[in-house]
Amino acid sequence: MRFTYVTLFPNLISPYFEDSILKRAKNNKKIEIDFKNPRDFTKNKHNKVDDYQAGGGAGLLMYPQPLCDLLNDLKKKSPHVHIVFPTPSGKPFRQIDAKRLAKKEHIVFVSGRYEGIDERVIEEYAHEVFSIGDYVLTGGELASLVMSDAIARNVKGVLGNENSLDEESFEDGVLEAPSFTKPNIFKKSAIPSEFLKGNHAIICTLKKEMSGLKTKYFRPDLFLRNVKGK
Ligand code: SAM
Repeated sequence: MRFTYVTLFPNLISPYFEDSILKRAKNNKKIEIDFKNPRDFTKNKHNKVDDYQAGGGAGLLMYPQPLCDLLNDLKKKSPHVHIVFPTPSGKPFRQIDAKRLAKKEHIVFVSGRYEGIDERVIEEYAHEVFSIGDYVLTGGELASLVMSDAIARNVKGVLGNENSLDEESFEDGVLEAPSFTKPNIFKKSAIPSEFLKGNHAIICTLKKEMSGLKTKYFRPDLFLRNVKGK
C-alpha cells in the first residue's frame, strides 16, 4: 500500500511513521509513504497557494491551479491512484471504509488548509470525500493520518496478530466487550469470574452480552441499527 500526502505541511505527518507499528510496516515495505507540496506547483513570485473567497466570506481558500497541476502530474505517473479529500462536509469515515480502502494499491490524501479548497477541485479529482467527525480541524493532515492509520492496520502483514482485527469494535456492528488483564482484582474491582475459568464458549457468550450492553449504553445509534433488528 502506498500513501501519498498532498500537503503544505509534510512535517505534521512524517513523524507519525517514525515509531511503533507504522514504522515497522514502513521498514518492512508493507506501506510506503511520500509527500507532494502544492507550493512546489505554484506559478507566482511568492509561491502563494491561497486566495480570497468569491462572493466574500471570512478567510482564504486554496485556489485550483497548484493543486490541479500537482494532481494531474500524479495521475500521469500513477494512473490508478485513489484520491481522497478530507473535509468536514464529507460522509463519515467508518471502519467499513478502512477495510475496503486497505485493498487499494495507492491512496492520495489531499489536505486542505485555511478555509478549505475551491469546490471545483474536489469535484474534478475526488474519488471519495470523508469527514472524520462533526468538528472542524485547522487542516486535513490529522484527518488524513487518522484515515491512513485505520486503513494501514487492515493491510495484510501490518499487524503482528491479524486475528485481533476480527474481535474489534465495529466488526459486527457493535463495540468490543470490556477487556481485562492482570491483576485479577484492581482497586476492589474483580475481573468477571468466568473469564478466569477458561471455558471459551461461556466466555464468548458473556462477551457478546457485554458488547451488546456497552453498545446500547455508549452508542445507541449503532445498537438500534445493528443489534435490535437482529
Ligand atoms: N470551511 C470549512 C468548513 O466549514 O467546512 C472548514 C475548513 S478547515 C478549517 C480546513 C481543512 O481541514 C479542510 O479543508 C479539511 O481538509 C480539514 N478538515 C477540517 N475538519 C475536518 C474534518 N472534521 N474531517 C476531515 N477533514 C477536516
